[in-house]
Amino acid sequence: MIKMMKKRNSLLSKLSCLTLLMVFCQFYIVPVKGEAPVNLKPFRVAVIIGDQWNDPAGYLVDLPKHEGSYSGYDATPEVNGETDFHDLIVLLKSWCIPFDIIRLDQQLLDRYMFLDINGRAKYGTIIWDVNKSEHLQPQDYSIITEMVKNYGLGLIALSDRISQQEIQDILGLKYRGSWESNASLEIKNSHFINDKISSPFVIDTGIPAHLQRQQADLLEGTLPLVMQGPYAQVTAREYPSGSHVVWFGSDHSYMFSFQGMRTIFRRAITWTIGYALFRTWENDIIMIMDDPGGAANNYLEHWHYPELREETIEKFLIAPLLKHKAVLNINFVPAFVNEGKRMLEPTWKNSFTDGFGTQQDYISSKKGYDKGIKQGVFEVLCHGLTHMQPDLVSKPGWYGSPNDMEKSEVGWYREFGDTRRKDEIPAAEQLWRMKTAIEWLTEQFGVVPLEFCPGGLGSSVSYFNNTAKIAGKAGFGWNGWESGYLGKDMVITGWKFLELLNPL
Ligand SMILES: [Zn+2]
Repeated sequence: MIKMMKKRNSLLSKLSCLTLLMVFCQFYIVPVKGEAPVNLKPFRVAVIIGDQWNDPAGYLVDLPKHEGSYSGYDATPEVNGETDFHDLIVLLKSWCIPFDIIRLDQQLLDRYMFLDINGRAKYGTIIWDVNKSEHLQPQDYSIITEMVKNYGLGLIALSDRISQQEIQDILGLKYRGSWESNASLEIKNSHFINDKISSPFVIDTGIPAHLQRQQADLLEGTLPLVMQGPYAQVTAREYPSGSHVVWFGSDHSYMFSFQGMRTIFRRAITWTIGYALFRTWENDIIMIMDDPGGAANNYLEHWHYPELREETIEKFLIAPLLKHKAVLNINFVPAFVNEGKRMLEPTWKNSFTDGFGTQQDYISSKKGYDKGIKQGVFEVLCHGLTHMQPDLVSKPGWYGSPNDMEKSEVGWYREFGDTRRKDEIPAAEQLWRMKTAIEWLTEQFGVVPLEFCPGGLGSSVSYFNNTAKIAGKAGFGWNGWESGYLGKDMVITGWKFLELLNPL
């Protein structure tokens, strides 16, 4: 099965490497001979939130659950959880901007969160997204004022998360509150961050009609850059310390649902830090092929096909890929479930005729894939270990079943959620399968897979068995097809803005 997706999305699989690259880049910026030293702020962001992160352990970033309450517009509960934190983290990871999160429900603001041991700024800018909540620790917000006015850090504050007087004072505005409005967002005044943005702003599809508009009175020296009717929704201000500060209004759950706002937000990070490091993409799409090496096509009637032979791979994959200087990413399955032996074993060792009478030559297939990898047109990704249930014995039982009975049930051909018995797969079993898949793929192809894609997207979703969380622990960097970033620092599910990112 071959699917195609936008390149921008695919390249996110290398986020960790890119982030590292950018951190190193700071150290290679040197002044031109004879000119004054370049005094750059660190290319790193401090994200400060209230109690929006629903994982107390600070690892899994997922979309908030439905609150189950009524807005009053409809007869059914439809109020969703607030998504500002999730959306913000997705954007920062998408743009490869290094950041740390400070959560004020667990932490106390401290100067040395922002300064190193020698009193130098550790961040170029602060993103302020602190909601009003009784669950916050007691805080000294004047530390933020000090960082902006005395140490030159930038500040970007979001939506209505500016109830703190100190934050309003730095932004140069007096906050009133928010009420619904469907008036258009439009550009006002000329500035680096709103230059050539199409106005009025276009909203993404599927966004609800009832959005909040923020209202604030601007103090002298605060420049409105985006208006919604008579009210500023983006403002900018500069300080003698060199600090730049920006406020984004709009609805806290939907402020990034406009391409114009996303672009302005990315530029605001550049403007408040003073420069940008970014990655550009040369190609438009990525191609991914799933399933080579798996056993499902031997047993599952509606997914039955012969494994590709060496000559087919050479003629119809390698040759056109070489001709077009393209790469095909392949989600391989390194283990094969052998019905006769009632066990899993490493793939690629057998040639046989399956129960449907189809020749399956895994030995020939492997030779073809090896050639493509050697010529640089295939990239090795991980599609789990077997693409099948770990337990094939318990009722209703897969082993020994005829092809037109239990074996024809697709639920058996998922590995990380028990889709046959409507249950989850325990965490330890998942982790063993992921780590073994990495080991076996590395042994089989000589490269380490960075992306993980659960077979048929079958996954476990409870906190402790969460498949994405376990894949991050196993060492993967991206969860295909759609789930998001995996890392040692965090795991993000419910990825957004796949084809809507505009880095500049
Ligand atoms: Zn698959």
